Amino acid sequence: MKQLFLPFLLLLSLAVNAQQFPTSPNYKANDRFEQLGTVLPTPNTYRTASGAPGKEYWQMRADYDIKVELDDEKRRIIGSESITFYNNSPDELKYIWLQLEQNLFKKDGIGATSRTGSINEKGMSTGQLQNLNNGRGSSLDPKVEYGYEIQKVKDKTGNALPFTINNTMMRIDLPTPLKPGASIVFGVEWAYNITEYYGRSGYEFFPKDGNSNYFIAHWFPRLAPYDDVNGWNHKQFLGQGEFALIFGNYKVAITTPADHIVAASGECQNYATVLTATQKQRLKQAETSKTPVIIVTQAEAEKAEKRENKSVGKKTWIYKADNVRDFAFSSSRKFIWDAMQSDVYKNGKKIWCMSFYPKEGNPLWEQYSTRAVAHTLKSYGNRTFEYPYPVAISCHSTSGGGMEYPMISFNGGRPEEDGTYSEQTKYGMIGVIIHEVGHNFFPMIVNTDERQWAWMDEGLNTFCQYLAEKEWDFNYPSRRGEPMFITDYMSSDKSVLSPIMSSAENVIGLGPNAYAKPATALNILRETVMGREQFDHAFKEYATRWRFKSPTPSDFFRTMEDASGVDLDWFWKGWFYGVEPVDQDLVSVNWFSIDTQNPVIEKEIARKDAAAKAKTISKIRDAADKSKTVVAQDSTMADFYNSYDPYKVTDSDKQKYEQYLATLSPGEKELVQKNTNFYTLSIKNKGGLPMPVIVKMGFEDGTDSLVTFPAEIWRFNDQQISKVLSTSKKVVQWTLDPYYQIADIDTENNSYPRVAKPTRFQIFKQSQMRRQPNPMQQQGAGAGKVGGEPKN
Ligand SMILES: [Zn+2]
Repeated sequence: MKQLFLPFLLLLSLAVNAQQFPTSPNYKANDRFEQLGTVLPTPNTYRTASGAPGKEYWQMRADYDIKVELDDEKRRIIGSESITFYNNSPDELKYIWLQLEQNLFKKDGIGATSRTGSINEKGMSTGQLQNLNNGRGSSLDPKVEYGYEIQKVKDKTGNALPFTINNTMMRIDLPTPLKPGASIVFGVEWAYNITEYYGRSGYEFFPKDGNSNYFIAHWFPRLAPYDDVNGWNHKQFLGQGEFALIFGNYKVAITTPADHIVAASGECQNYATVLTATQKQRLKQAETSKTPVIIVTQAEAEKAEKRENKSVGKKTWIYKADNVRDFAFSSSRKFIWDAMQSDVYKNGKKIWCMSFYPKEGNPLWEQYSTRAVAHTLKSYGNRTFEYPYPVAISCHSTSGGGMEYPMISFNGGRPEEDGTYSEQTKYGMIGVIIHEVGHNFFPMIVNTDERQWAWMDEGLNTFCQYLAEKEWDFNYPSRRGEPMFITDYMSSDKSVLSPIMSSAENVIGLGPNAYAKPATALNILRETVMGREQFDHAFKEYATRWRFKSPTPSDFFRTMEDASGVDLDWFWKGWFYGVEPVDQDLVSVNWFSIDTQNPVIEKEIARKDAAAKAKTISKIRDAADKSKTVVAQDSTMADFYNSYDPYKVTDSDKQKYEQYLATLSPGEKELVQKNTNFYTLSIKNKGGLPMPVIVKMGFEDGTDSLVTFPAEIWRFNDQQISKVLSTSKKVVQWTLDPYYQIADIDTENNSYPRVAKPTRFQIFKQSQMRRQPNPMQQQGAGAGKVGGEPKN
């Protein structure tokens, strides 16, 4: 509605408007804009108030020398290790804690006993029932004992050290306390039965050829962190929360059947003895090739996987990995292997990018895996720091999902048996490789505590993955990162939402909460709140400050503000500590224009207004009898007022207007004569999470214009605000957040006047719901599984 007002009242009326909205009795004014204050830990000499490591920052270190054998027949790991543990803390330690993740799979372990479940009376698969029966997860064979068999814990002279096992943790009591700055050497011998691949490690068995691919991780007893935040970080492994680890140097000798091909964290030290002459020659070619070179061909892998060709001998592959927080490896006689060197350099040396996959992964794996590895190092390197390791590997594990370790990852994404694949399989596979290789940056190098804060690695990594996907293909169908993808989750009932700042082991909805929501929040920070330049600078500063160190959430929050000069406490509060969604409601728009006091303009407006109001229904119906009234029939009944035009401009009107203009300054005169339109927008913060207000004005002439106001617009009243906008053109349509930037969960109330959107529904027959062949199969574009041959 358009309203008129006098220009001199303009400022006064706005000042009154700003105060007019009442607040509910429980509402604490401006709560959402209060600083985080004591919610963050007090800064100290280890971690500064600016978010950087402090001058006395310290972290522990453990070096490992490990010998391990993979027994393919019994599917067993047998290992022994010598650990050198350096106490870099200022504290004396009477005991040390080691992690025993394999104990998650023990019969009465905490993994089994803390699992919940119920019987489904509508029916269950035998696997589900077995799972409930043994309480341990469906991939476990009830006849096999899983978990660590710790055979010996000894000091460096071979004397037994006393130890106590508490579920997935083991305490070793030291004969004399380990002083600050001192180190201790000790050894452990162990064995365990390998589980079927459960998403993080295990074997995948191929019934057709009788072979297994092994993905071996959290396979050796290793140091738990001891740090300035938690002391000993020995929160039990329940399966959902990942790992908290410390850096060290590794030397690992892996013994496998002689016909296996091994991939591992680190650089192989003895390719000269474990590879054939042909393989070595192909590897040499790969050093200068711009595309991946096949080191073990599909034909060779297919020959090796035949039962009659199985070897009886063993081979030992020796690896070295420096400054890593973990070590994993993969092994199989089914592996095809390709390699190239990326054009990303590490101290002037190129980095090896490699992939290992069975024929079941082709043709997708041969075409995309190694290239996706190289792309990831480049993309992530640009927004963080140069990839510091000599190798990056992608192995093909069972379909769906992926899992990351330093320099090596196990990734899904498998074509159909006929070699065709859906679009989802292809992009899912590339996406998972980018994601898992990207984890080298977060948390393998920016070494966060995954068991406590899943979002610190998953959220940051998913955000970088989203950017890397767009750099791979402009139209990449990314699953996470765009604000509109999180609105369904954010509009769920608040009782089923955990804040992002929740422990990884108890967070509800790990996927949306630790991956999608933080990734979206970072994307919004970059595009809408901070801007790309400020964000990219601060994000790089965080990654650089904390590479090869262990940051906490407050170190991240503080660094992002410290480096950008943007106060983000309200943002961390809303997005990371809260569960409220974004929902801005454009309640009303009031239209004002200045009363020019020019009689020529104003009297004409008044005339039209009066004429419109005179058109009532009775008058319309009586019009036919207009000539029958007394005044019409008897002219003596008319006087001056029957012909008087109150809207006619008189000399007196003109004089008054001249006098008025004489009182105005040139600036005021211009404002009055331009006939500017003023609009008061009334916007409600219905969702609770305050965000910038982005307004699109659609003008009468078909053009439009965008204005953005920072979230601080809500700082005096975070429930409802009014904002005045002036424009020379008339606005016919108002839209909030027209480019879907702020994850507004209800876009219906973003327009004024409201624009109704139809909800479309389909009528379908049951028969159409059957699984359709993928588009490659429908169009006969069968890729076929032609094996990779050596390429030059
Ligand atoms: Zn991840």
